[in-house]
Amino acid sequence: MRTALIYSDEWRRFDYGSEHPLRMERLGLTWNLMEAYGLTTLPRAKVLAPAPAELDAVARFHSREYIDVLRAASAGDWVPHAARYDPGPSHNPIFPGLWEAAQLSAGGSLLAAGLVADGEVDRAFHFAGGLHHAMPDRASGFCYVNDPVLAILKLRERGWRVAYVDIDAHHGDGVQFAFYGDPNVLTISTHERGDRLFPGTGFVVEKGEGDGVGFSVNLPLQPFTDDEVYRPAFEAVVPPLLRAFKADVLVLQLGIDSHRTDPLTHLSLTVQGFTSVVKRVLELAPRVVALGGGGYDLPNVARAWTGAWAAMNDVVLAEALPRECHKDMTRLGLRVLELSDPPGELPEDTRRWAEEYACRQVAAIRETLFPLHRI
Ligand SMILES: [Zn+2]
Repeated sequence: MRTALIYSDEWRRFDYGSEHPLRMERLGLTWNLMEAYGLTTLPRAKVLAPAPAELDAVARFHSREYIDVLRAASAGDWVPHAARYDPGPSHNPIFPGLWEAAQLSAGGSLLAAGLVADGEVDRAFHFAGGLHHAMPDRASGFCYVNDPVLAILKLRERGWRVAYVDIDAHHGDGVQFAFYGDPNVLTISTHERGDRLFPGTGFVVEKGEGDGVGFSVNLPLQPFTDDEVYRPAFEAVVPPLLRAFKADVLVLQLGIDSHRTDPLTHLSLTVQGFTSVVKRVLELAPRVVALGGGGYDLPNVARAWTGAWAAMNDVVLAEALPRECHKDMTRLGLRVLELSDPPGELPEDTRRWAEEYACRQVAAIRETLFPLHRI
């Protein structure tokens, strides 16, 4: 297995603002944990820094007009009607260098896709990517440039069939939008139900359009869904579809805001639950381009993505976190200094409530979408 880890410490140059939940610091924290575990010097893994994405590459999905707005706002220029494109206060702040930050994130995902497309590696991981909400002409959900879409477009250049699996707590709406009519890209998103959480979409009835009907799959979940509810629902939906679709490559969005301590969402997964899902999809894919995503409780982000990268390299990690990371993890609120979380204590009636909802969604997917794939 040949792999590549894409990382740049250029993230230090950028900041969404002191009160914004997306902390760039999470990237350095993740890198440090990977390094402490010896995962940045594996013999068969390359470690590469990305170059910023070219404007033309970004323009394959985003409008020129919107790109011009991002560049001007990033440089501190006044932009007439900027609100129309959605950068501004709240979710998508204007901060110095936001265009360069977006270019770097897009560049990393394009590099990961290129390495896999060229056969240089079988699996590549760019954990600063996965910004799945950005739309062609507007920013959304902390995302300015949709790097998963750009990576998929690059893989499509090879004529490959691409499966996209998004396990972020939020619906992967930008990616679904990009390929809604395309039968060569199967998008599957599992997430907290859209009537409880941003961006408000991602219901089972969103099945694709035209030739793409059946190739857009959504598994919405109830708040408090934990590993015990999530795993069987995932198993009932994702592996059969991936086997039927026979993708040449899998693009994975690995948001870990599904974690039970994440401050922005209400799902209840653990790090080990997340990692077990990553391992499961790795078994089902010949090639993988893995990206990061949401995650606002920083020690979870570092532990989950370190676990995911270890899984991509078939490395088993010690449970005790390396001593050199203890200080940062403790400062950021982690109480048990281990890779896995202590067992959860979800009340039984809450779990049943989440389980009943998940079962109904799974049944609806199997009834309406599986026949389209002859499953
Ligand atoms: Zn998210």
